[in-house]
Amino acid sequence: MRILVTGGAGFIGSHLCERLLSEGNEVICLDNFFTGRKANIAHLRDDANFEVIRHDVTEPIFVEVDQIYNFACPASPVHYQYNPVKTVKTNVMGAVNMLGLAKRVRARILQASTSEVYGDPLVHPQTEDYFGNVNPIGLRSCYDEGKRVAETLMMDYHRQSGVDTRIVRIFNTYGERMMVNDGRVVSNFIVQALKGEEITIYGDGTQTRSFCYVSDLVDGIIRLMNAEGGDIHMPVNLGNPGEFTMNQLAEQVGVVTGKEIRIKYLPLPADDPKQRQPNIDRAKRLLGWEPTVPLADGLKRAAAYFADVID
Ligand code: NAD
Ligand code: UDP
Repeated sequence: MRILVTGGAGFIGSHLCERLLSEGNEVICLDNFFTGRKANIAHLRDDANFEVIRHDVTEPIFVEVDQIYNFACPASPVHYQYNPVKTVKTNVMGAVNMLGLAKRVRARILQASTSEVYGDPLVHPQTEDYFGNVNPIGLRSCYDEGKRVAETLMMDYHRQSGVDTRIVRIFNTYGERMMVNDGRVVSNFIVQALKGEEITIYGDGTQTRSFCYVSDLVDGIIRLMNAEGGDIHMPVNLGNPGEFTMNQLAEQVGVVTGKEIRIKYLPLPADDPKQRQPNIDRAKRLLGWEPTVPLADGLKRAAAYFADVID
């Protein structure tokens, strides 16, 4: 198949491009290089089946493809809050443009959504039928609400125009190729530990997240894209149900890096969700998927990567 991956030079997108190429597909990576890097895809450049287009998803584009993975959007709060208006445009106009393309060339399209659509969830663990608790006017809304509209567009293009859609709600994912200055918690803690700096915990560190290693996530995403069935257009949670407080994560990072951990507590950002854990029953049922890499193993692999990069 010929497959378009928007955001293909980013953290998850680059792993996705790599996997799709290894399975014998032609891959077109589209990226504006806001948070993506050429280094993430440098090892793919010699593959005759790989193409890169520098393009912004807020502008229309025409390419003949069979499948579209729409992953373009900064994912770290630091980066998506840098230019919030642009974040909304990327999510909304990006989805409109990619859905328009999917409709025109009859491609199947998968939208990268997020556990952030649940906001600061009052239902725990989160099931796909929970509507969420999202602040529509806060600092995170450009991302949360942007993704919610992207989901709306996916469902409406499906119902109105018969576009063959998939929606994945991704929970916190980590691994190689996150940027050293990405700003998300796993890369921050590992880089700080490796550099002998204080670990920055926001708030009292009792808030929880559930961390999925990138290879597990990519496996689930590809299964979802290629799955068929009646309710396959409905959103599917993908994440690792193992839930940890930020204090526990800091401790684990100390263990895997073999460094003594010193902690600095900083103020909690506004609207920071207190708890997050995916219910993955739907993914198990529809895709036969569940994650296989425990946090300690994934952290070890990520720490080895960051140690190399920092060197
Ligand atoms: P990332 O920032 O590493 O990658 C995003 C990529 O999109 C980058 O290559 C960036 O340059 C590109 N991009 C941004 N705006 C663009 C635009 N307007 N036009 C073209 N390209 C653009 O982030 P990531 O962690 O790889 O996340 C990828 C996708 O997965 C995002 O849509 C994100 O919302 C979603 N997601 C990620 C996580 C996670 O934990 N990593 C969780 C939930 C959802
Ligand atoms: N966090 C932290 N220290 C950091 C970066 C993040 O304590 O250096 C916290 C953050 O406040 C949040 C959790 O870690 O409670 C996860 O943050 P991240 O930005 O990785 O993802 P998100 O909040 O989008 O789930």
